[in-house]
Amino acid sequence: AAPLAIVRGTGHAADRGIVMRTGEAFQTFRLVRRIVLDKTGTLTQGRPTVRAVASTHGDTAAVLALAAAAEHHSEHPLARAVMAAAEEAGVTVAQAHDFESMTGSGVRATVDGHHVLVGRPGLLTDTGVDLAELSDWITEQEAAGHTVIAVAADQVLQGAIALGDQVRPDAAEAVAAMRRAGMEPVLVTGDNQRAARHVAGQLGIEQVHAGVRPDGKAEIVRELQAGGTRVAMVGDGINDAPALMQADVGLAAGGGTDIAVESADIVLLREDVTAVLDAREISARAYRRTR
Ligand code: ADP
Ligand code: MG
Repeated sequence: AAPLAIVRGTGHAADRGIVMRTGEAFQTFRLVRRIVLDKTGTLTQGRPTVRAVASTHGDTAAVLALAAAAEHHSEHPLARAVMAAAEEAGVTVAQAHDFESMTGSGVRATVDGHHVLVGRPGLLTDTGVDLAELSDWITEQEAAGHTVIAVAADQVLQGAIALGDQVRPDAAEAVAAMRRAGMEPVLVTGDNQRAARHVAGQLGIEQVHAGVRPDGKAEIVRELQAGGTRVAMVGDGINDAPALMQADVGLAAGGGTDIAVESADIVLLREDVTAVLDAREISARAYRRTR
């Protein structure tokens, strides 16, 4: 490969808000046949808002306050949405201690002497919290395409919070263009199956992997690579970093976290899904020039 063509391509890419961090991925992109897409923050805006709150004791403001206290140190978009909703509701948020983040699952912290756990319903059931009281509510909310996080204090369910996120306006068009370019889209998310299907349905994506833990995302990329298939991965979160590294071409989506950026071959500075196709086109064009 002629370095000059790559340098030229790189300059052209920068104009379009695309940063090529490695030359290799630049050349591999045109060979990609499968493209793994993270849902939250990549296909969706990544700015979820609280849509509904349920309580096991009739006090939804208290559920919000407890969750906001535990989430205070989390940078997760869901955490920020919970804190914003608590602020909007004007509830008093206590100071939390012993904060611990469980990537792809939730958070735990000590609030007013109580052990508080906030996260995906499966995280709470795994630690022995009984969700029965709100299981119908959770199912309903998830079927509406929402992400539900449950809140427990001292291993007793206190409530649940449903959050909604908007699909990016150009996502459906970008997914269709990926297909036309010979890349089969695969949706991968840590979110629940119902919410994942809801988004996949809107975008016309058939392959869906939901409830996936961070190392699970990398594992899925590895499986798709079987037989030498070139696989790209697009993601924005800490939880996407292992998969971005495993992929033949890793793309950090617009507004991605530092860890995602450092794990990626290509960094998209624009917050639209179409940037993925621009990156591919630029790499294909540069390749043609180097031949
Ligand atoms: P995605 O793959 O959709 O970007 P994540 O892997 O970040 O999602 O998270 C997977 C699930 O874990 C979320 O849908 C949520 O239920 C839960 N979760 C992750 N982080 C948090 C948090 N800070 N607070 C509450 N729940 C969380
Ligand atoms: Mg994400």
